[in-house]
Amino acid sequence: MNSRIADIQSRMIALQTQQAAKTAPAQPTTTQSTGGSGDEFAAQLRQALAGNNAPSTAAAANKSYSLNSKGIPTELAAYGNGKIPANALEQVGTTRHKLWAPAAQGLNDMIADAKRDGVKIGITDSYRPFEEQVDLARRKGLYSQGGLAAKPGTSEHGWGMATDLDLDSKAQAWMRKNADKYGFVENVPREPWHWAYKPKSA
Ligand SMILES: [Zn+2]
Repeated sequence: MNSRIADIQSRMIALQTQQAAKTAPAQPTTTQSTGGSGDEFAAQLRQALAGNNAPSTAAAANKSYSLNSKGIPTELAAYGNGKIPANALEQVGTTRHKLWAPAAQGLNDMIADAKRDGVKIGITDSYRPFEEQVDLARRKGLYSQGGLAAKPGTSEHGWGMATDLDLDSKAQAWMRKNADKYGFVENVPREPWHWAYKPKSA
């Protein structure tokens, strides 16, 4: 038990040192958000106290949110489609892709579990800012006119709640069987690669 306490104390000191380094006055405040590292600190502390190092992301799938009449979390609706600030988004794994944080966590869990089943899930697209939606509509045409792009300002990608995946037939079958456990649904008829995140309503 004493060694556990010593371990926790040393981790806390290490984290506090990291915190101090990040917030040193000489460093300009760039895109690095202190909120994120604070959350990380809290999460690590919880894990240390719980006595295990397993990721605690499973809880994310069971969280519920206040949703508007269109199923969009009110916290996102307040920002506007394609206008989600960086601090409400989270990186997916080590990729360049970002989604609304709960969706990113669900996707990370799903990719890890698929990998364990020998299934590879690749990502081709994720959060799409408004300007990129305009560009995509120009290049791929509007879905309503036989194209592959949503009307700018209405895309699920603009909420950080949809991802386009690179799936072989085995992966497609795995997704159809398992994706809903992680909150993802296949909801666009001509786009088997498009998977939308559907958070639970509070
Ligand atoms: Zn899509």
